[in-house]
Amino acid sequence: MKNILIIGAGIVGICTSIELIKKGYSVTLMDPNEPGSQTSYGNAGVITDSSLMIINNPLLLKSLFQLIFKNHTSFRYSKSFVFSRLIWVLHFLAFSHKNHMKFAAKALRELQVLSLNTHQKLIKITNSNNIISKPGWLKLFKTSESYKNYSLELKILNKHKAKYTILNTMQIEKQFPDLEGKFFKGILFKNSVRVKSPLELSQKYFDYFINSGGKFVQESCKDLRYVENKWLVLSDKNKSYFDEVVVSTGPWSKKILLNLGYNIPLAWERGYHHHFSTKKKISINPAIHDVEGGFVYSSNGSEVRVTSGVELTFLDAIENEIQINESIQKLRKIIPLNKKLIDKPWLGSRPTIIDSLPMIGKAPKHKNLWFNFGHNHIGLSTSAGSAVILSEMIQNKKTGINADPFSPKRFSL
Ligand SMILES: Cc1cc2nc3c(=O)[nH]c(=O)nc-3n(C[C@H](O)[C@H](O)[C@H](O)COP(=O)(O)OP(=O)(O)OC[C@H]3O[C@@H](n4cnc5c(N)ncnc54)[C@H](O)[C@@H]3O)c2cc1C
Repeated sequence: MKNILIIGAGIVGICTSIELIKKGYSVTLMDPNEPGSQTSYGNAGVITDSSLMIINNPLLLKSLFQLIFKNHTSFRYSKSFVFSRLIWVLHFLAFSHKNHMKFAAKALRELQVLSLNTHQKLIKITNSNNIISKPGWLKLFKTSESYKNYSLELKILNKHKAKYTILNTMQIEKQFPDLEGKFFKGILFKNSVRVKSPLELSQKYFDYFINSGGKFVQESCKDLRYVENKWLVLSDKNKSYFDEVVVSTGPWSKKILLNLGYNIPLAWERGYHHHFSTKKKISINPAIHDVEGGFVYSSNGSEVRVTSGVELTFLDAIENEIQINESIQKLRKIIPLNKKLIDKPWLGSRPTIIDSLPMIGKAPKHKNLWFNFGHNHIGLSTSAGSAVILSEMIQNKKTGINADPFSPKRFSL
């Protein structure tokens, strides 16, 4: 039986470990932190098959001037970061054309459909139904203008037969009476689910992996060397040998692969969350994207989580609470918030490759080394599907969906 090391126990690494142990490998998962406690901890909890429009799309170029000169709740950037990573930024922008948008949508739809199905099976076998609510994803538009801007995304959703319902003002008021304020339109994604606690989901999946015979080592990988057909893995505590290694270290993947000579075109779209109690009980199933406001919120009874948009800056830059504070101010007009439930906002970093597609597959320059990272805004959604296709590749089988768009070979690394 081949022994495989998965480096990084976020939702991507945990799902990958499960798929590989199901296929008969001896699997060790390595992370210095508790499983699911980093980027996968604080997200908005949406698992969807309908997040098809990548962020670097033609509309980004249209609004670029405004984004550069006027910081918005949905997007802020650090000038020094942009200058230091100018090549990354220009390449990222160069992908904002129609053909790539269409190509990415097709690839992501296949991955997300597979992923949602796989999550649904995992949710069942890990008895996680109590932390899931349905339908899980709603976009609300305050003005006819912002709804009009959404028409391009609607076209893409229709092309790929995504299931959604358009709600008018009255239907929104009727279905979501706890929301204050008027909304022009809403799009409710019927297939999507919301995870009430993303950490708990990671923990349930992780327990399932351990109960299936998996091993977890709480160590930090410091170096990887290929020696006599084995991977020598040097951690902060040990050295060990493995037949195969999967790197699933989310935003830290660029750093870890630098030693092996890979220049991964990855950066970070940082985001924050805060938690509040509410003045009254709020019963809303889906996570809600306030499109004009540029933030997402969700409620569990008398508790609300609000997540902010994108902050483009260094991975370890000090926290800047402006965006999350603006989001909270805007949310107060929709839901009467009470007390803060955490001392300071949580911060996470969405790992983003320049073409906004994850990197799933064989490392181009090494034997028995595999990548699964770069899942940007949708890594909770795509984690389970990426794990299925990567495990098929490791088995040397044809993948159930077309995995070429995610191949590391698409770049000269
Ligand atoms: C505010 C916000 C809201 C979001 N909302 C959603 C959403 O609603 N739906 C959705 O689908 N996605 C969402 N996302 C995106 C999603 O959270 C991420 O894409 C996903 O969590 C990435 O998972 P990961 O496993 O790749 O990374 P992580 O969860 O960061 O896991 C990587 C792991 O690697 C470990 N690691 C790093 N270096 C080493 C090393 N040297 N040795 C060993 N281990 C190491 C880290 O400790 C970490 O545990 C959101 C993200 C943010 C920030």
